[in-house]
Amino acid sequence: MVLPIVQYGDPVLRQKGVRVEAITPEVRAFIADMLETMRAARGVGLAAQQVGRPLRIAVVDIRGITDRPSTLHIDNQPVAPEEFMPVVLINPEIKPVGEPVTGPEGCLSFPELYADIARPAGVEVTALNLNGEPFSFRGGGLLARAVQHEVDHLNGILFIDRMETAKRRELRPELDELQAATRAARARKH
Ligand code: ZN
Repeated sequence: MVLPIVQYGDPVLRQKGVRVEAITPEVRAFIADMLETMRAARGVGLAAQQVGRPLRIAVVDIRGITDRPSTLHIDNQPVAPEEFMPVVLINPEIKPVGEPVTGPEGCLSFPELYADIARPAGVEVTALNLNGEPFSFRGGGLLARAVQHEVDHLNGILFIDRMETAKRRELRPELDELQAATRAARARKH
């Protein structure tokens, strides 16, 4: 089932995700919906907060983007990133690797809004898979950027928080408008 994607202005985007204690059939069905939603929106990643649930679950799939490469290492061996996608991250922990690099970023909760964001070039990731088993990998390029963006969501952090001040100031009118529209839509629903 494709779930509605929450937009900027909805307070759930500022909530920290709760750890998943048991991967129940309900959790698995929710993750299947997240994958379907990410695919339908042509997103590179999606966090549970973005579909209204503050849980520590994110999904990533970099296959749709061909002009911004990714690297992937498992046990220090290079692996074709495409073969590893989509990747489901439950309770992920990340450690940055390398110097920050700047690259373009967008977010499904901020339609039509893009900005350059500096983030560490690589990331070491440990998470649980759908069977509740831990797995680890090291990502670089777009994959590293996507994982860091999604893990930020799980902590209630949004990409506008990582923008340069001047860029955020420039986008302020659009951000205010989006926030107001989201709040008005929520007010109509409740
Ligand atoms: Zn996002």
